[in-house]
Amino acid sequence: MKRLLTFSFVLVVLFASAQENDETTIRKLYNTALNDQQGYKWLKVLTDIGPRMSGSKEADEAIATFQNIADSLGFETYLQKVKVPRWVRGEKEVAYYTSDGKTFQTNATALGGSVATPAEGLTAPIVEITSFDQLDSLNGELNGKIAFYNIPMDPTYISTFFAYGSAVKQRWAGAVEASKKGAIGVVIRSLSSSVNPYPHTGSMTYNGADKKIPAIAISTLDAEKLSKAYARDKNLEFFMKTSCERKDSVYSHNLIVDWKGSEKPDEIILTSGHIDSWDLGTGAHDDGAGSMHAFEVAYLLMENKLRLKRTLRIVFFMNEEFGLDGADVYAKKSKDEAVNHVIAMESDAGGFTPRGISISAPDSIMAKIKDLRGLLEPYGIHQFSRGGGGADISKIYAEDLVMIGLRPDSHRYFEVHHSARDVLANVNARELEMGSATLAALVYLLDKYDLTAR
Ligand SMILES: [Zn+2]
Repeated sequence: MKRLLTFSFVLVVLFASAQENDETTIRKLYNTALNDQQGYKWLKVLTDIGPRMSGSKEADEAIATFQNIADSLGFETYLQKVKVPRWVRGEKEVAYYTSDGKTFQTNATALGGSVATPAEGLTAPIVEITSFDQLDSLNGELNGKIAFYNIPMDPTYISTFFAYGSAVKQRWAGAVEASKKGAIGVVIRSLSSSVNPYPHTGSMTYNGADKKIPAIAISTLDAEKLSKAYARDKNLEFFMKTSCERKDSVYSHNLIVDWKGSEKPDEIILTSGHIDSWDLGTGAHDDGAGSMHAFEVAYLLMENKLRLKRTLRIVFFMNEEFGLDGADVYAKKSKDEAVNHVIAMESDAGGFTPRGISISAPDSIMAKIKDLRGLLEPYGIHQFSRGGGGADISKIYAEDLVMIGLRPDSHRYFEVHHSARDVLANVNARELEMGSATLAALVYLLDKYDLTAR
């Protein structure tokens, strides 16, 4: 009996000290992040390069810059060639409407991928569309007119990503659908979660369209004003002028950074973000923040001498915004080379205060990952929900792969997303660093306790 008691005591002590060790280690990771703010410093380097549209020299410069930094830290790096589309905005867009002989300017931006208007611009009456059901019911009313999509993001969603998802069709497919009904141009309400004067760009498609009509977004504030003016005057005329253009595709790169594991170097734990951005801001949140989160995981582990058993791989994906080309190439090469990913993480939801993670994993592993919550709750990480990891890593999705997406607070994200407000001044260094430390802690724990499905 005495022996049994002693044995139990030893077990309890062992368990408690493992727990204490984890608590201490995790504390150190957060301390390093908050003290050094290395990710934030790197984000400044990245955003100082400027906007990083796919195919631009700034996008390539960003890749070269971070390859140099990773090399100087002693990691293995290599580039993966990716063919990307190139679209240029041209001159600043002009858009206004006239009603009762008066002119009202709007803040506008061409949508990514749009064709230009004729050189002298395009003038036509508008038809306001507030739902896709309404669009379906139109019969000839759009002939020769400009379709004005005014579908707000539903403010009642708690995660603004769902609100975005519910409204994004007007941007992505608005031109295709309107052109089928005879429209000659498209104006959409910006996908922004508040009423503000900033236009938000983003990608659009012409797939399935007989003719390509130009598309712009106006600010939510201008959309509200235009809607009111239209209610008073159904004959008001809208003018839009853009000179954007799709150029030939060019070659760019994904950047891959490896830190070889000490015991199982062939098993890959991947962290990632995308290095390309839209051009109105400098892609500080989307996805400079996520790229720095992913990269800083390596820095935080290294600074604390926590080499993983498995290989830590950071991927800076190219061209998430305009077709996921980098992710496609990475997935194809990984398949060809039989790369053994065991965990894949992505951060592409901004650099705001992290609230938790979304996880896709087999049930047995899922339960064990959820057991880690107690270790992260002191840092405000509460949400451990089922869900995808992100758009780029979705290309290497497998049922038995552990996939994790960082879930920062989303309330402000769509006020900056794809707009001139997506700049470093709108990233809080502490909030950003909390995200990096959270991913580093997770990577450390998942590797230590072998919480990999394969
Ligand atoms: Zn993004």
